Amino acid sequence: MRLAWTRDGAEWRLRLRLDAGEGVAGVVTDGQAVELATDTCHVRLPEGEHGEPHPDLLALAAWTVAAPWARGRVVFDRPVSAALAGALHDGWGVDAGPVGGAAREAGERLAISYSGGADSVAVAALLPEAPLVHFQRVPHPRVPNRWTHYRSDVLAKLARGTGREVTVVRSDLEFMLRKPRPGYPEHHAVLAGALLTAGEADLGGVALGYEIGSRWLGGGRYVHRYTPDNPMWSAHGRWGRAFAAVGLPLVLPVGGISEAMTMRIALESELRDQVRWCLRGDGSGPCGRCGKCLYKELIQAAVERRPMRTEITADRPVARKWQQPPPYGGQEMIEYGCAHVPDIETTPFATAARHLKATVESTRWLERCYPPAVEEIPEKWRKEIEPIMADRFGFMDAADRLRVESWGL
Ligand SMILES: [Zn+2]
Repeated sequence: MRLAWTRDGAEWRLRLRLDAGEGVAGVVTDGQAVELATDTCHVRLPEGEHGEPHPDLLALAAWTVAAPWARGRVVFDRPVSAALAGALHDGWGVDAGPVGGAAREAGERLAISYSGGADSVAVAALLPEAPLVHFQRVPHPRVPNRWTHYRSDVLAKLARGTGREVTVVRSDLEFMLRKPRPGYPEHHAVLAGALLTAGEADLGGVALGYEIGSRWLGGGRYVHRYTPDNPMWSAHGRWGRAFAAVGLPLVLPVGGISEAMTMRIALESELRDQVRWCLRGDGSGPCGRCGKCLYKELIQAAVERRPMRTEITADRPVARKWQQPPPYGGQEMIEYGCAHVPDIETTPFATAARHLKATVESTRWLERCYPPAVEEIPEKWRKEIEPIMADRFGFMDAADRLRVESWGL
């Protein structure tokens, strides 16, 4: 595979060329099969002057887009450091080159990859000084957009509405995927903007909103078991090591707490009005009809200890999966919701509640912080996060930890 960037002012354009033996069928780190739709994409930084990024930052940004399709050899257009080449070799078994030049030194600041969903809002609320980097999907000139209901414009406006230091980066890289649908080729491609601006913004780390379900309980979609070596988000996983090699370690400030607790932080914060987990809603609010709205309403109702407010009934397609027996993606939050929402038997989660038999007591571990999640935060930022976790949630005891560590076994 050959990966080359060209630049036109604030816009970076990536071209991917497959070698013999490489095809359009690829596999993402989380096991998802994907199909390549086209060979180019662009990443547009905000208008203004931008310096030349360190070659390792450009290479890793390209790699977050191209990794699912690479086999054997990867040739970048600029030399990469031995540190990055080593991380790519150890993580993926590829020979990356040409190799030359020094690795990048980490900067001082921690940026937040900010989507506007409750998890990333929680991180922003916990780290009030940190700059935000928001990824905005824009159409691809060569790929038809059948996903016009995705209101990335609304999400970008909400991000700007935080009043924080926000860098909005616009990109069509999600349209590199034909199947299963447009999306990040690897989830880490959301960090393209943080990578390309890391030098000028003096970044020494990037924080993401992944919570205990995504980081430690398997992420939901394909695996529902304890994953200490999670290749996506653990500090010593393939991606964690690659980002550390370019001086931008991945930091998960809320990796030890559940989605219910990140929602509580977000909704109690001054960013409450900017929280938006629905990708379809317009300027007036979330759509209230999609699967994400239904799932998040369960969690919010549980956090607020009130009945659900939803028009969605059990016979709707978006509620179909909850009419089946477990396991469910994000099952720990379904348990939490079923245990805490009054009148759950009148909601689309009635069947799930009967299967799960969750109680307030059996879900109490989901209100505390899992200590190893804090231990893997680099020390520089752990000092800030650890006291917050101790004060607001407290740490899990041995019995709680066993629940995490035996999840799905
Ligand atoms: Zn919605």
